[in-house]
Amino acid sequence: MTETIDLQDQIAGLDPKHGIHVDGRGIGATQTFAVQDPATLDVIAEVADAGPAEATAAVDAAARALPAWAAETPRARAEVLRRAFDALVAETDLLAALIVAENGKSQADARAEVAYAAEFFRWYSEEAVRSEGDYAVAPASGTRTLVTHRPVGVAALVTPWNFPAAMATRKIAPALAAGCTVVLKPAAETPLTAIAITRILKDAGVPDGVVNLVPTTDAPGVVTTWLEDARVRKVSFTGSTGVGRALLHQAADRVLNASMELGGDAAFVVTADADVEAAVAGAMIAKFRGGGQACTAANRFYVHADVAEEFVQLFGAAVEALQVGPGADEKSQIGPLISARAVDGVRALVDEAVAAGATVAHQGGTPDEGWFFPPTVLTDVAPDSPILGQEIFGPVAPIVVWDDEEQMLHQVNDTEFGLASYVYAGRLQDALKIAERIDAGMVGINRGIVSDPAAPFGGFKQSGLGREGARDGIREFQETQYYSVDWS
Ligand code: NAD
Repeated sequence: MTETIDLQDQIAGLDPKHGIHVDGRGIGATQTFAVQDPATLDVIAEVADAGPAEATAAVDAAARALPAWAAETPRARAEVLRRAFDALVAETDLLAALIVAENGKSQADARAEVAYAAEFFRWYSEEAVRSEGDYAVAPASGTRTLVTHRPVGVAALVTPWNFPAAMATRKIAPALAAGCTVVLKPAAETPLTAIAITRILKDAGVPDGVVNLVPTTDAPGVVTTWLEDARVRKVSFTGSTGVGRALLHQAADRVLNASMELGGDAAFVVTADADVEAAVAGAMIAKFRGGGQACTAANRFYVHADVAEEFVQLFGAAVEALQVGPGADEKSQIGPLISARAVDGVRALVDEAVAAGATVAHQGGTPDEGWFFPPTVLTDVAPDSPILGQEIFGPVAPIVVWDDEEQMLHQVNDTEFGLASYVYAGRLQDALKIAERIDAGMVGINRGIVSDPAAPFGGFKQSGLGREGARDGIREFQETQYYSVDWS
């Protein structure tokens, strides 16, 4: 009870009715929208609902702030980013509580997300100062070529609800390191975390106008306003492949620089000589982090026939033992899904798989109230079952048994997605031989997690364009310019 009162006080302290953040100030709108806790279905806040006018005001502020921020020395920008890291870490309790309340994930998952989210500021504070270019002698003429990288300009950032902190910081930190200013639209389900981050960044010394926030229920209205504004020179989107594709069409009209982090359909491969206990431990992380609502979530399991029985038994027992409940309860390991619609979608996929011959081999329980779905293991899943080709985005693990490596690899790659995959094998070189034939941007080798701020996160095929994290993440917010120097 005390915790609930504290959280309500903290939410009130964020003043979400003035949650639009432009030029360093919180502003309101004529309307507000409700944010619901997916575990209790309580309305936990009313947030200012921005429209195209506020979207344009945010670009005005970002465009005004751009010249001074771009002209800062890399060291000065790095120091602001480093202070931002410290400030975000210091506010771990607040940010984790907000993530639990509006997204529903467990406290452990929420705290892990805050640590991951903050780390982008530390990584890019270190990377911001490595702004080297190239100097070359042109082969025929002997003229000199100088290559440098400039901030692309005002960047429009659009983020999903499943990692309300990390998807924002994974874009803001490299953009700021590159010298860009930003306008950010969070998902309407999870605006509170973004509001808190914006305030924390301001207090940490990010200059007014450099980071602007526009919560809204009119995503197309706000984002279209940005994509049509000539001052916006970049769009960086994380979300579903369908929306990403539509934004790419819009971006094409202005030949707008676009980065896309889209959906996934990760395969989790277990070979005959894998350490089965380790594979099960990895599978629990790869599948159930955030209740299965991660773009990198293991979506389908390909387990070698020699170890299938043991794997299903151990995995099934671990799944049945999972504590499902509100994230606010410390004992909960898995929270609710984000919406009633999400629950219906996952249930439809499971029903369809069962109708096509799959067996519900293991299933956990759920509380009666809230948007919960029980953690579920499906066996006897036909290799062409639709559940293997679409993002489940819920705590369901379909298992396919294989004994022919060529056939298994064909099935693994038979998807429009190519974000992440996982391979568990006894010998590293065997795991790598399989990984090198998987068409995915990231492969966990004997690990159930691939996210790392220092590594290039992104996908092949319809999972996206571009990379976030690592040095690549800064390049997404830079233009390359070269000077051809007369050498007569
Ligand atoms: P979504 O595509 O519905 O929404 C993402 C964002 O786009 C939200 O801010 C939303 O308000 C906005 N949006 C929705 N429709 C829009 C429109 N017509 N015009 C402009 N903006 C619009 O995705 P979601 O349900 O919030 O997130 C889940 C999806 O995100 C999954 O597919 C998941 O795989 C993907 N995801 C990908 C990554 C990655 O790094 N590749 C990371 C996290 C999530």
